[in-house]
Amino acid sequence: MHQDIEEILISEDQLQAKIKHLGEQITQDYDGKNLLLLGTLKGAVPFIADLARAIHLPLELDYMAVASYGNSTQSSGIVRIVKDMEGPIEQKHVLIIEDIIDSGRTLHYLTDLLRRRNPLSLKVCSLLNKEHTRVQNVPVDYYGFTIPDKFVVGYGLDYAQLYRNLPYIGILKPSVYADDSKPQNQHQSMAENQ
Ligand code: 5GP
Ligand code: MG
Ligand code: MG
Repeated sequence: MHQDIEEILISEDQLQAKIKHLGEQITQDYDGKNLLLLGTLKGAVPFIADLARAIHLPLELDYMAVASYGNSTQSSGIVRIVKDMEGPIEQKHVLIIEDIIDSGRTLHYLTDLLRRRNPLSLKVCSLLNKEHTRVQNVPVDYYGFTIPDKFVVGYGLDYAQLYRNLPYIGILKPSVYADDSKPQNQHQSMAENQ
């Protein structure tokens, strides 16, 4: 286990078993439909890569990067598009693939924006769901795991851009980010979450 990790919350095996199950569900639900998986950069990359291979249907992949200002462990709700998706979605059933929903602010912004582009349907699949921290109510149609209100990293999720390559979801030792709120670390509190 990595030295900065306090505890492994979800193991590699647990992740892969859940993704296989989600893939089966999505395969059933979208049979015969024009499916577009829309991944959010950068956190959802490992998840969308594994999930797409667990869905046994023709599908398209696209990506959007939205950043929300905040400190490195919390989003503010002030969201901006860093990279938009490529084409129109009027003829498509769009399934947003997210890494984690915390306050719900980022996803609320994104679903609002995409709904105005008139997809045939718009649903959300998030690997992780912190349900007691929600500020904006956003319906999540598929999710992998509900987790406690702890800052987690791994399997796409970062702290200061690190730890995304861990194959499991772990709780970061608070000592690693304890300095984040100190005034001398203001540059970090202006960081963007992606
Ligand atoms: P929300 O807008 O729902 O509060 O936050 C969503 C974004 O905040 C996620 O896509 C992710 O970038 C970041 N985030 C929220 N909780 C965590 C967490 O526990 N760990 C990490 N690494 N990022 C998180
Ligand atoms: Mg995300
Ligand atoms: Mg991040």
